[in-house]
Amino acid sequence: MLTLKGLSKTYRTGDSALNEVSFTVPGGQIVGLIGPSGAGKSTLIRCINRLVEPTAGQVLLGNIDLTRLGGAGLRTQRRRIGMIFQEYALVERLTVMENVLSGRLGYVPFWRSWTRRFPAEDIQRAWALLDRVGLMAHANKRADALSGGQRQRVGIARALAQEPELLLIDEPTASLDPRTSRQIMRLLTDICAERHLPAIVNIHDVPLAKQFVQRLIGLRAGQVVFDGAPQALDEAM
Ligand code: ADP
Ligand code: ADP
Repeated sequence: MLTLKGLSKTYRTGDSALNEVSFTVPGGQIVGLIGPSGAGKSTLIRCINRLVEPTAGQVLLGNIDLTRLGGAGLRTQRRRIGMIFQEYALVERLTVMENVLSGRLGYVPFWRSWTRRFPAEDIQRAWALLDRVGLMAHANKRADALSGGQRQRVGIARALAQEPELLLIDEPTASLDPRTSRQIMRLLTDICAERHLPAIVNIHDVPLAKQFVQRLIGLRAGQVVFDGAPQALDEAM
């Protein structure tokens, strides 16, 4: 479970990007984060994984406050958060399997034949993940030989390989066609439910979000202006 309590961020420029944001995301739930450009969506995601230092408030993952950590403690806690990106952020010259295993490792080693150094159970788990995202047949292809939808599936498998307790998903379908976007959203919602994972998805495409997400949080000028079911959004607007 993820809990934000009074999360605020004022940049050094004086921009107040987040103002006392509080909400809880239970395991298995995927929350769609919506709002106009400049509303604070990226800042919110970055405060959770501490790429941005919050000015005030708490980010509780389970019962650990991520805002109070630094150094090695922070690195350990960051490993509990799986990230999925708009442009996939794969290592293009590596194979699908190598990309997934790099999620397990948390970095890409420079030495040769590094995949052989993994324990059999890690390799097995990676195969199971590739099976789950439908990429078993592509395991040994280079990432740059895949379509956008396939790349995003690798991104999802890689994030899961680190056995995260939270998924932060930034515009996962922004580079995909409508049909592939629906498949990816379906996969993400199913996986969160299966693994009882809380997730936040930053999503521009509100109709797509409404179709797949049970809860939307609307931000405007750094504040939560909507929190509820997609149907209620129409009534509120
Ligand atoms: P969104 O992702 O919803 O478009 P952002 O979180 O990027 O919103 O931005 C929220 C506000 O914070 C905006 O006013 C933006 O200009 C400001 N902002 C974002 N990043 C920075 C930064 N690094 N330094 C100063 N201001 C920033
Ligand atoms: P997007 O909305 O697509 O995430 P933005 O244009 O809001 O992208 O931001 C791009 C980058 O610029 C981000 O790293 C953001 O933190 C930074 N940024 C946004 N607004 C400001 C600002 N007012 N001052 C400094 N940096 C900013």
